[in-house]
Amino acid sequence: MRVITRPLKLLGIFVVVLLLLMVTGVGTALADKLIFYARVARLSMEEPDTKLAMPLPDVSKRQIADTWHAPRGTDRLHEGQDIFAPKGTPILSATNGFVYNIGENNLGGQTVSVIGAGGRVYYYAHLDAYAPGLQIGDRVNTRTVLGYVGTTGNAQGTPPHLHFGIYTSSGAINPLPLLSDRTAPPNDRTAPRVTNATPRTTRNRRV
Ligand SMILES: [Zn+2]
Repeated sequence: MRVITRPLKLLGIFVVVLLLLMVTGVGTALADKLIFYARVARLSMEEPDTKLAMPLPDVSKRQIADTWHAPRGTDRLHEGQDIFAPKGTPILSATNGFVYNIGENNLGGQTVSVIGAGGRVYYYAHLDAYAPGLQIGDRVNTRTVLGYVGTTGNAQGTPPHLHFGIYTSSGAINPLPLLSDRTAPPNDRTAPRVTNATPRTTRNRRV
C-alpha cells in the first residue's frame, strides 16, 4: 500500500505547488519551467524514435550524400548529415518533441534543437531564419516548421543546406539510417518504390 501511495502523494504535492505558483502569477515562468521539465522527463523515459520524417519534405533519402564522420579540417569529423535545398525552404521537425534550444553558435549559425523520445536531441543548423514565434518549450510534431534553410555559421559560402544532427546521452549518431522519406511523389519515375524499398530496410536493420 505504502509503495503505491507515496508516489501519488508526491504527485499531489507537485500539482499543488504548481497550482500555487500559477495562481500567484509571479511564479508563472517557474511553473512553465517545471511543466516543461516534467514533460521532458516523461519523454526521456520513452524508447527513441527509430524512424524520422525527412526534415525537408521534398528531399528524398537517396538524394543525401552520406557525409557522416567525413573529416572536417584536421581536428573534427562531420557529426551529422547535410541536406541541400534552396535558401528559405521550410524545415519541418523530424520528430515529435519539445523545442530544447534556439540559438546561434560559430559552427552552426542559427540553430534549433528539439528534444524527442529517449531524451535524444535533434539539431537543425545553418538556418536562414527561425520560424516566427517559435519558443523554447514549444511542443512540436512532424508538421511543425522550425525554421528555414540558409548558410549561417560555417556554411557561409557553401550552397544552402540544413545540417541535421542527433545527439544521444553517449554522443552523436548517424541520422541517415533513421531518416525516412515523407510521401513520395506519385509520378516520380526516377525512384521506383520497389527497388528503393529493399536496401532501405536492410540498412535500417543493421543499425
Ligand atoms: Zn553539416
